[in-house]
Amino acid sequence: LLTLAIETSCDDTSVAIVEKTKKANGNAAKIHFLENITADTRAHRGIHPIIALESHQESLGALVQKALNYLPESQPGNGNGNSLKLADGSQRRLPDFISATRGPGMRSNLSVGLETGKALSVAWQIPMVGVHHMQAHLLTPRLVSCLDNQSNPDPPAVAPELPFLSILVSGGHSILVQSTHLTEHKILAASEDIAIGEALDKSARDIIPAELLQGAKSTMYGKTLEKFVFPNGEADFADYKPPMTRGDELAKRESKWGWYVTTPFANTRALQFSFSSVSSMVGKIVTRRSAEGGLSHDERVDLGREVMRVAFEHLASRTIIALETLRPHNTGKDKIQTLVVSGGVAANRFLMKVLRSFLDVRGFGDIQIVAPPPYLCTDNAAMIGWAGIEMFEAGWKSSLACRPLRKWSLDPQADDGGILGP
Ligand code: ATP
Ligand code: FE
Repeated sequence: LLTLAIETSCDDTSVAIVEKTKKANGNAAKIHFLENITADTRAHRGIHPIIALESHQESLGALVQKALNYLPESQPGNGNGNSLKLADGSQRRLPDFISATRGPGMRSNLSVGLETGKALSVAWQIPMVGVHHMQAHLLTPRLVSCLDNQSNPDPPAVAPELPFLSILVSGGHSILVQSTHLTEHKILAASEDIAIGEALDKSARDIIPAELLQGAKSTMYGKTLEKFVFPNGEADFADYKPPMTRGDELAKRESKWGWYVTTPFANTRALQFSFSSVSSMVGKIVTRRSAEGGLSHDERVDLGREVMRVAFEHLASRTIIALETLRPHNTGKDKIQTLVVSGGVAANRFLMKVLRSFLDVRGFGDIQIVAPPPYLCTDNAAMIGWAGIEMFEAGWKSSLACRPLRKWSLDPQADDGGILGP
């Protein structure tokens, strides 16, 4: 199956060509083309909807045009038999269908990609699948496990089979999801305020002096924070020790500079996240310390480490509670063996360390953690193509009348019917 995929839900305009084939011992996948153009909203400290929209309008046509050069050559007997003659005279295989992000996301931005997808589907007389962006993040590790070694130097040991538990952490989402089927996803915990990526981005802007932030892409402050605190990578956090019990999570860890950051909900078993308190504590610390004479480089590094530690331990702590809650039903073929971590924040190596440590010391050492490589963790069209392929194989197609959905629940029990819905 060959698909051309389009993603325009946020500030990345992305086009991919993804192919799934069968091989003797399972499935194989190839990303023939993948390119992202991120709107330059640097001057606006975050995502500016109009600038992002204009960027999609400017970039998408040219990206699709470029992608066509990466369609496999058409040969008798491959694909659906239809081919496309490019300007250079070459004959290319037409995709079997189009995948385009339908939601959730900014409606006008989604429209650029969805309407382009419909136009291609009409012109080429092939179906279109309107893809759920969050479902695509969730399924990405399954794409990763099918990629050949060339496009994926670091494949997971075992392909993640459903059911699995996922932590989706990005600039717009922090959710813990139990996935039992392609279209059955239950949100076990979500943030009651801002997403973890936003909290890390806000904290990074407070902690790191502006001249060092110059050049950080609009939504990538979290990545800058990781580099700032752990310039030598994993070596810098090798000495990390997780709290052994939930009681230990409550302990106030005062730094030598006189401040501390506390873990949200540490005294409860609430299956809920909160990250705004973490970034606002950081803001207050920076304001106070600046008034007291300023922060040294070392103090900034310590504060950056603390904000990540607290945010990641909060994620890990709720994940353990969810696993403990599920444990009685968690046997046989329903047993959860995999924790998928995806979304932009999953690119953070310290997060993986914290999660692994928590699972190991709290009795879930047999669960494997699977995270896609960073270029597939952040928004990209390859994951949209893969989710499109899985849905298309399961018989899904979208109508040409489908509209973009600003809000779109993952959960089929939700009011809008979730993925199965409108
Ligand atoms: P959504 O997909 O929910 O609509 P988004 O477009 O912001 O939101 P992504 O592109 O998946 O999502 O993720 C961007 C976020 O990931 C930013 O908040 C960024 O700071 C964060 N991020 C990227 N790399 C790292 C890193 N190494 N450490 C921590 N955070 C990171
Ligand atoms: Fe995303």
